[in-house]
Amino acid sequence: MIDKYGRQIDYMRISVTELCNLRCRYCMPEEGIVKRDHEEMMTAEETIDAVKAAVSLGVKKIRVTGGEPLVKRGIVELCENIAAIDGVEELCMTTNGTLLPGYARELRAAGVDRVNISLDTLKADRYREITRIGELSEALSGIEAAFEAGFEKVKINTVLMGGFNDDEIEDFVRLTIDRPLEVRFIELMPIGGGIEFEKARFISCVRVLESVPGLEPLDMTDGVAAMYALPGAKGRVGLIRPISCDFCEGCNKIRLTADGMLKPCLHSGAEISIKGRSREEMTEVIREAILSKPQMRETLDAENPSHAGRNMNSIGG
Ligand code: SAM
Ligand code: SF4
Repeated sequence: MIDKYGRQIDYMRISVTELCNLRCRYCMPEEGIVKRDHEEMMTAEETIDAVKAAVSLGVKKIRVTGGEPLVKRGIVELCENIAAIDGVEELCMTTNGTLLPGYARELRAAGVDRVNISLDTLKADRYREITRIGELSEALSGIEAAFEAGFEKVKINTVLMGGFNDDEIEDFVRLTIDRPLEVRFIELMPIGGGIEFEKARFISCVRVLESVPGLEPLDMTDGVAAMYALPGAKGRVGLIRPISCDFCEGCNKIRLTADGMLKPCLHSGAEISIKGRSREEMTEVIREAILSKPQMRETLDAENPSHAGRNMNSIGG
């Protein structure tokens, strides 16, 4: 479906749970979150209906995210059911990867086409520091499990943080030399509980190009990522610049939260509920959400944090 500003909206991100087995400092509070009543959250049937409704309006790509999607009970079956929907051309998942060793093969068999694995550092002590409770070895095993399960384009999402991982940019880029990995550096966003954290840590993705001048621009984009590569490398490097570069013009997505709220724009507080509605009603509400997408987000920086009104774990990054 085309929105009011001529953008083709063909992508829906679904947060299937707010819960997570990690506590990344820019995303979740240290104590985690209070698990909400079942009745407040989307059921698997409602999620499937929402996808069918979205597909009827031209959505072709679905990303399952969270919180951590792999802590959701029944996640493989949910993915299988989404992949089987006529009109879903691509099903992807964003995960912290720590549970992938136990799930990668099943997810691949269920029809998940691609996985993005979040990894902000290659150093075990830093991984523990940023995730508060995580083990780097588990995330690294998750990446290997994704390759072994036959996922072809494995992407690594790395949030850039000044004074935390800017000295690891080269190490991340080096990962792309021998493997068909796509390392995507993402600018830290002032959103939810991450607002204070962002103030001290934000750095622009330009730093990646300064740190690795050998990166050559590719004549392509991958979604919102500007693409680069080292000459002769098997993999690629993507820069996702939600802060230093406006990409609202090319926005092609809507988001659905685990409690059934459609978010026409990540950085707006506007939400429309689809929980408890019939598929026909959902279709109308999704249409309404698409037509209410703003042309552009408001200014976004340390002084002007996001109006999203939620932490990333409950929106679905
Ligand atoms: N738990 C899964 C994971 O970490 O991949 C999926 C959900 S997580 C919210 C999705 C992505 O959002 C992750 O790559 C994470 O790094 C990113 N993210 C969370 N908070 C962010 C923030 N304040 N700025 C930029 N990216 C953020
Ligand atoms: Fe969990 Fe992902 Fe948020 Fe980290 S970024 S706390 S892994 S939801």
